[in-house]
Amino acid sequence: MLRKAKRVVVKVGSQLLAGEDGLNREFIDSLTRQIASLRGKGVEVVLVSSGAVLAGIKALKLRRKPFSLSEKQALSAVGQPYLMAEYRESFKRFNLKVGQVLLTAEDLRSKERFHNAKNTFNALFKLGVIPVVNENDTLSTEEIRIGDNDNLSAHVSVLVDADLLVILTTSPGVFDKNPENNPDAKLIPVIEDVREILESCDFSTQTRFGTGGMATKIEAAAKAAKKGIPVIIAGGREERVLERILNGERLGTLVMPCKKLKAKGYRILYLMKPKGKLFIDQGAEEALVKGEKSLLSRGVKRCEGEFKKGDAVEVFSLNGKLVGKGIVRCSKEELSTSKLCIHRDDFVLLREDI
Ligand code: GLU
Repeated sequence: MLRKAKRVVVKVGSQLLAGEDGLNREFIDSLTRQIASLRGKGVEVVLVSSGAVLAGIKALKLRRKPFSLSEKQALSAVGQPYLMAEYRESFKRFNLKVGQVLLTAEDLRSKERFHNAKNTFNALFKLGVIPVVNENDTLSTEEIRIGDNDNLSAHVSVLVDADLLVILTTSPGVFDKNPENNPDAKLIPVIEDVREILESCDFSTQTRFGTGGMATKIEAAAKAAKKGIPVIIAGGREERVLERILNGERLGTLVMPCKKLKAKGYRILYLMKPKGKLFIDQGAEEALVKGEKSLLSRGVKRCEGEFKKGDAVEVFSLNGKLVGKGIVRCSKEELSTSKLCIHRDDFVLLREDI
């Protein structure tokens, strides 16, 4: 499965990129050398890289922390060009060129913008350029932020139809407990049931491994996996880690791909922000669970939030169980007069495994 991968998304976090005094050139050089080697074998690579804020802090020689959101936005404006300059220099050794792609959640939520972004990536692949992706932090307000690059990398994998997502971190993989203070901690080689792993392992103390911590990485991995993309969470500092993974060596933790969500289902479930909540009666719930019927407005007993036609909402049973997510065909105000609330094509059921 991994050896056959022809298009791979690689995510690196700030912790791996942090050097003594600025960005870690040695790490960047090893990363670009590996990517160049994959390219030489005909593998297309997208690099999702953090490090803009970090580079900004170093460039301005700042020490004070924490920074406010607007300060971080400004710091990323300063740091992003430094980050790109490092990659440009480093890839130049292999005669490879980089292209910067900055995305916000908004670019991925809207179908049109999603397709625009897809076309841009395809054009970059055709030109033989390595896309280097980051969140457009400078312009990302809370409302349109993805917030962490683990989730961004999952979305980018879906966007470019990747065969594999590799999330590189400072840990050699996912452990059942924090390996730093538990000598008996075990590496989990394969995750099939993400929910079970999240419930049974303690990741609260494994959060030193990046912005979102290990739980965020696993949750992000699960999203790509639901779209049928295998994900490997592995140690970025291990010797030739990318080349070895693509040679089929078992490194890190593999999050197995599972049921394939359609593009629309992925967008509804993971990209669209729910604008409201609908509470539905038992008859409506049964119809939705059977997957045969749309949600009619008369099945909606109560609602919260403000939504208009085309917005995403969460659908709950009357006892508060989340049934699924969908796109409404009417606004909150039109609910009493419109027959159809959610068409079945626009509804994703949250079964146990999702
Ligand atoms: N986009 C942020 C940066 O480049 C990092 C976000 C993250 O680490 O997840 O600094």
